[in-house]
Amino acid sequence: MPAAPKANPPIRTLLGPGPSPVSSRVLQALALPVVGHLDPKFLEIMDQNMAMLREVFQTSNRVAIPMSGTGSAGMETCFVNLIEPGDHVLVGVNGVFGTRMVDVAQRCGALVDTVDAEWGTALDPQKVKDALAKNKYKLVAVVHAETSTGVLQPMDEIAKLVRDSGALLVVDAVTSLGGAPVRVDELGIDACYSGTQKCLGCPPGLSPVTFNERAVEVIRQRKTKVGSWYLDLSMIEKYWGSERVYHHTAPISMNYALHEALRIVLEEGLEESWQRHKQTHYVFIREMRKLEIEPAVAEQIRAPMINAIKIPEGADDAQVRTRLYDEFNIEIGAGLGPLKGKIWRVGLMGHGSRVENVEILASALKKLI
Ligand SMILES: *Cc1c(COP(=O)(O)O)cnc(C)c1O
Repeated sequence: MPAAPKANPPIRTLLGPGPSPVSSRVLQALALPVVGHLDPKFLEIMDQNMAMLREVFQTSNRVAIPMSGTGSAGMETCFVNLIEPGDHVLVGVNGVFGTRMVDVAQRCGALVDTVDAEWGTALDPQKVKDALAKNKYKLVAVVHAETSTGVLQPMDEIAKLVRDSGALLVVDAVTSLGGAPVRVDELGIDACYSGTQKCLGCPPGLSPVTFNERAVEVIRQRKTKVGSWYLDLSMIEKYWGSERVYHHTAPISMNYALHEALRIVLEEGLEESWQRHKQTHYVFIREMRKLEIEPAVAEQIRAPMINAIKIPEGADDAQVRTRLYDEFNIEIGAGLGPLKGKIWRVGLMGHGSRVENVEILASALKKLI
């Protein structure tokens, strides 16, 4: 077979559920020279990535590592390391990613119960309380920003209930990290995972995770080997820690990209970044209302970085999204599961969370609906 033609992807305005737009600074970092994964200069970059991740996760945890793989690798890292067959796990389910956590936990041999809420609403802390009163759980897992529905889960009450129960608290912050406060230490989160391609403004490929010492101790006390060799934290920790023992080759270029992306987040300031995501979100809601498009999520629980809006009466869901691609080079997300055909999901994440993007989308939608 002859060589395929050179790849020539278009420049899109990425306003979907991820990946989010990547700044030229981060794209340039991907082109830096590749060095060895034990090169002293690369080890420096790794250490700086860990230090910057601690900052972004608001934690003093020793373990703050970008796992190789996308956000789902972070999810799997948490469950595969913390769960042993037969463990009782409680998962909050109000969208795709809660559902995925159930699947992953079950594959680790956990006996999983769920606390459910209708898609598009938040989990009710009272239901979590009731579930915790009925059974003793080793681990409780909650999605912070449910990307499939646009709900930002209020965490304070649930975190306290889980802490008081003695269970480990695992939080999915794939979409929220960098775009809304994720206060790992303050909330007492034992393990938290994220992804590079949402509010951190990096291409997909790494999954930052952080584990506190309580969680690390749970791994140390395991009776069985971790089911995944690739995601076994006790081995990966030895490469990211002072021993620098080879486990697998770190994705060098992705670590450069994350390094630059984290620098950008911290140069702006975390608080400033959260504020910008909120402001852009407000402008978005205002502009959509001018087009008689209404938000699909109640005001107090709207995730500023992933905006669910109701597809207006008479608009053809698939056709509008296709025309956004073809005529405007804009990507937005469709509804999933029970919300398919009912909502669109507009990501205003990281570098993409800017008023100019809202204006580009609003003017395109104005022509299409
Ligand atoms: C995107 C996302 C994931 C999965 O991340 P991938 O990078 O697609 O593997 C997990 N949880 C949430 C909340 C997400 O938004």
